[in-house]
Amino acid sequence: MKLLEYQGRILFKNYGIPVKEGDVAKSPEEAYEIHKRLNKKVVIKAQVPVGGRGKAGGIKLSEKPEETKELAEKILSLTIKSYPVKKVLVAEAAEIKKEMYISLTLDRRTGKVLLMAIKEGGIEVEEIAKERPEAIYTDYIPILRGLSPYQIRNVSEFLFDGEKDLKKEFSGILLKMWKLFRECDANLVEINPLAVCEDGKLWAIDSKIILDDNASFRYPECVPDRDMDYENLKEFEAKEHGLSYVKLEGKVGCCVNGAGLAMATMDTLKKFGGEPANFLDIGGSSSPEKVKAAMRILLSDKNVKSVFFNIFGGITRCDDVANGMVSAFQELKPELPIVVRLTGTNEEEGRKILEQSGLKIYPAKSMDEGAKLAVQFAEKT
Ligand code: GDP
Ligand code: MN
Repeated sequence: MKLLEYQGRILFKNYGIPVKEGDVAKSPEEAYEIHKRLNKKVVIKAQVPVGGRGKAGGIKLSEKPEETKELAEKILSLTIKSYPVKKVLVAEAAEIKKEMYISLTLDRRTGKVLLMAIKEGGIEVEEIAKERPEAIYTDYIPILRGLSPYQIRNVSEFLFDGEKDLKKEFSGILLKMWKLFRECDANLVEINPLAVCEDGKLWAIDSKIILDDNASFRYPECVPDRDMDYENLKEFEAKEHGLSYVKLEGKVGCCVNGAGLAMATMDTLKKFGGEPANFLDIGGSSSPEKVKAAMRILLSDKNVKSVFFNIFGGITRCDDVANGMVSAFQELKPELPIVVRLTGTNEEEGRKILEQSGLKIYPAKSMDEGAKLAVQFAEKT
């Protein structure tokens, strides 16, 4: 789950990372009120889950509440990188002297946390990585051992050379970032820019936090004011039904039992020149209710042009899946071609149920045959 800036700021505040005073507004009037309350020059920032908001006109400075109202109205009417702006942050404006970049990212390749720092901030790290990778300071933190004092000293020295006070301040911020990262099961905690301001102190001017969805139940307090607007509602619906669903960009909807088989199914579709529209694991013991929910989620994706059910009955019984399909299809009346490969426990019973239902489906004997057929159907339409 990607937090919006204002949500990340709540976590920063909870962990003692310095952020300027501010609040979030859904309307120009609310923005006006916040400015009046702060009674200082403010910055108004579009709250969308992407960077580069400044360039897109989503960040403006304002001296007066009236001006803030007008600017907020403008920003609230923008769409930035396909995200309509629904909220703005109104915060005390910082007088920035120097900007830096600092982040902690879960690095799956090494199984460690990657620490990155850049002496200049405000630029997207991906751009620097492409153009001047040597400008990025990197270090790896073993998760269980944690951030070591020598690692903190090294990165502080890199960013601030001999500036003692700033180094000390930064060390504190980095430790807090680490604490947040671990305690909230984050995949990313990024401050870009972390800025030295006119008061000579460090302030987090932006926040970017991604939390691990699968761990969010452990720390509900780490998910402030959960914003459903920008989240994939289908992934939530799937979770509620005990399904694992990840939307992808292709045209072949997949409905599979077991994560390994789901991965193999996606590979097989690709082998035959197709692209999966999703990863969908209906799990080991699939009740008709689960199959129905899976179909509902699959069919609500407009990109889906054909569906491939690839079921390997082990604990899952093919007759259960077949019953689920029959009741799901009777209810949802899909018009797309549906290819079904059913094999394993109770496959005979399962096939019989499907045949007797009179539903129009395309049976396949093997995974290859099914995948090929589903790809052909998807490409035809
Ligand atoms: P992003 O570009 O979407 O990541 O948005 P940021 O929050 O990082 O802001 C982009 C840039 O706007 C920063 O690098 C700053 O230069 C500028 N900016 C943001 N907030 C303030 C502020 O309070 N005061 C000033 N002077 N500039 C700001
Ligand atoms: Mn930023």
